[in-house]
Amino acid sequence: MPELKNCKRCKKIFMHAVGPQLCDLCKQKEEEDFEKVRKFLRDYPGATIQEVSRATEVSAQLIYRFLRDGRIEVAADSPIALLCENCGVRITSGRFCVNCSKKLANEMMATGKSLRDSMNQRRSSIGDEKARGLRYLDEYRRDKSR
Ligand SMILES: [Zn+2]
Ligand SMILES: [Zn+2]
Repeated sequence: MPELKNCKRCKKIFMHAVGPQLCDLCKQKEEEDFEKVRKFLRDYPGATIQEVSRATEVSAQLIYRFLRDGRIEVAADSPIALLCENCGVRITSGRFCVNCSKKLANEMMATGKSLRDSMNQRRSSIGDEKARGLRYLDEYRRDKSR
């Protein structure tokens, strides 16, 4: 359902349906920023965040977000240090290193499974109660008809 929201970038109220909370204009601007950063990093893989930010006029914060989102990647020897949010090891893109991504994916699957299991358990016990209720109803009806 589309809702009225404030654009995260310009604070303008707009109809937000899916994706990032940005109005059309800012979405377009962010795409342009993204292209600028991507091209600059391709040409100057050894640049620091400050250099990229100054050359592209894109805020360091946004550049970090592009990196965290995994949309851009820095060279392995780039001065831009991106660290795994779980173990702190150096990474070139995204939020977690390969090992932690794998581990987290496994954990997520495990919690998803146990959640499903407990849901199924609850559903089956509700089913029992309902069946018991019906049985009472049956007996009641039988009493009445007698
Ligand atoms: Zn906007
Ligand atoms: Zn890690």
